[in-house]
Amino acid sequence: MNLSTPVEKLFMVGPTYARRLKKLGIQTAEDLLYHFPFRHIDYSLIWPIKKIQPGEIVSVKGKVISMNNEYTSRGKKIQKAKVGDQSGEMEAVWFNQPFLVKTIRPEMKINLSGKADWFGPRLVLISPEYEIEKKEKTIHTGRLVPVYHETSGLSSKWLRSRIAPLLSQLLPKIKDFLPPKVKKNNDFIDLSAAIEQIHFPRNEKELIKAKNRLGFDELFLIQMAALIRKRHWQKKSLAFKLAVDQEKILTFLNQLPFELTQAQKRSTREILADLGKDQPMNRLLEGDVGSGKTVVAALAIYVAFLNRAQAALMAPTEILAVQHYHTLNQLLKPLGVKIELLTGSQRKKVKNFDLTVGTHALIHKRAQFSNLGLAIIDEQHRFGVGQRAKLIQKGKTPHILTMTATPIPRTITLTLYGDLDLSVIDELPPGRQKVKTWVVPPQKRDRAYTWIHSQIKNTPHQAFIICPLIEESTHETLTSVRAATSEHRRLQKEVFPDLKLGLLHGKMKGKEKEKILAAFKKGRLDILVATPVVEVGIDIPTATIMMIEGAERFGLAQLHQLRGRVGRSSDQSYCLVFTEIQGKKIIKRLKALEKTNLGMEVAEIDLQLRGPGEIYGTKQHGFFDLKIASFADLELIKKTKKTALGLIKDSPRLEKYPLLKTKLERYTIKAVQPN
Ligand code: ADP
Ligand code: MG
Repeated sequence: MNLSTPVEKLFMVGPTYARRLKKLGIQTAEDLLYHFPFRHIDYSLIWPIKKIQPGEIVSVKGKVISMNNEYTSRGKKIQKAKVGDQSGEMEAVWFNQPFLVKTIRPEMKINLSGKADWFGPRLVLISPEYEIEKKEKTIHTGRLVPVYHETSGLSSKWLRSRIAPLLSQLLPKIKDFLPPKVKKNNDFIDLSAAIEQIHFPRNEKELIKAKNRLGFDELFLIQMAALIRKRHWQKKSLAFKLAVDQEKILTFLNQLPFELTQAQKRSTREILADLGKDQPMNRLLEGDVGSGKTVVAALAIYVAFLNRAQAALMAPTEILAVQHYHTLNQLLKPLGVKIELLTGSQRKKVKNFDLTVGTHALIHKRAQFSNLGLAIIDEQHRFGVGQRAKLIQKGKTPHILTMTATPIPRTITLTLYGDLDLSVIDELPPGRQKVKTWVVPPQKRDRAYTWIHSQIKNTPHQAFIICPLIEESTHETLTSVRAATSEHRRLQKEVFPDLKLGLLHGKMKGKEKEKILAAFKKGRLDILVATPVVEVGIDIPTATIMMIEGAERFGLAQLHQLRGRVGRSSDQSYCLVFTEIQGKKIIKRLKALEKTNLGMEVAEIDLQLRGPGEIYGTKQHGFFDLKIASFADLELIKKTKKTALGLIKDSPRLEKYPLLKTKLERYTIKAVQPN
């Protein structure tokens, strides 16, 4: 047997359990060793029977005096063992486990761990864990006992009894991939010791040492993999070297109707510096909705244009692509940039275009680029890994700029996005006001409607009403569309009969959507009832009210983005948040939005409350689910990053660290490449 032995071949596993293990992603013996307990019960103190008090969790070591099946007055079968030590005797009781009388026999030495409580007139141990004393160390009783997440019909007891024998056989075969000097600097124990101690520590101290070591490993490997991906990308030869003409850039900036914010200037500098290099850029531009990412992207496109290279900008929805198309035309057409639009439903053909703006349609065959030098991806998390790769493959190796309004906590950008360089626009253009946000209780719904009415009737102001996210899906489902449609009808007829309401959802044709949006933009509609499709990008300065239904179905970061649809002018804007379920936890989470208007803070709270899996879709990969370390642990993240950088610097191809190299080769196969 070795580490890669499939679980079905292991002693006492068999096909049924092998199937259950596979559901948890456990395929091999090694996977099983890496299935860590999430806590330990402390059964380490052995109690003299005489001293046991009711309500206590105790461990007893003694001899079986008798063991019998008995019937209760209600006709149920119970199992009673009388056990004695030097201090006295007591009973242990189990329910409905008649086979126990065959396992637990008089005269045997036994360990029992569990809760002491009254059973009729007597103080007994209720359904304790038991272990017949053998030569080996105990695993279920009389020690720190590991508890595993019990899913898919795998009990902790079952896991313990399978993992323990594996440890003794396989630990000598585990090779420690961490270089000795790293271990020494951090005072880490060996990998094999850590794996043994995470399951079966002798004491609390050993457990902590194991966690320190294994938690470091988790984040360190993510850092190493990111650095290697980054190096790999940077070694590719660039399709186009771009020269950055500072004078032309200045002219461009001077003809803008506004001055760039400091944060925009900083991001622009960083991007232009990348574009001037011989290596391909791979940068993430992060900034709240309305922070002005588009103009920064326009500058990069302009640089490509000046070098006669093509650019492509891919957006996740048609509405957004069309909006980008219009904005970029305004900014770049006067400079001679020819822009074509390519979406599922339309194609504006332009001869000798310089920039293509579009949706997923961009990655299909009909989009052809003879000389793609810059690929920009807006709201990257909306695209799958494969879709991004396909766009990039349209060119030889273009510069890549990824943009997102999803606030990402710093700890996440340092790990999951570790191979990207980061520019952050952490400042809104001047004059914007904080969007006042309220989580509205259901009994105030009618008053909220009256208030909305008073705010928009005979004023230039407008409102969005966002229907709940009905199903988790990146594409809109018919159910969502139906819900929005009937809500639109109800509001128009019963709530706002004297106002004009429009409806927008993802199943509408491109032309239709544009018509509705144009009407809303021009003020011909007072309220736009929409499914969450408006989540990204729409820029309508006169819209000052955002009402969100079923907010508990959204993540905070998503709600924050929806809220960003309003507050785009100097007028005071409002966000009203409604829920269908009134849970304490839910309300507490949503109330975070009342307190802060900063995307980054919202993201940190979301990370604390929901974990990265929920937010970044990493759960499906399993891979990024940290078992021990935390994505919120900035200190450890920094430390692992520093260590990884040090090793790469010392030995770029890791020749000096062959075990680490091998580990990473296997590790990257398992990993999802964010690029
Ligand atoms: P984002 O894409 O980051 O959500 P946009 O690029 O759509 O934001 O910009 C939002 C609005 O702010 C646009 O109308 C844009 O013209 C305007 N804007 C961008 N930068 C500035 C600035 N420095 N000063 C004033 N207005 C700006
Ligand atoms: Mg935008």
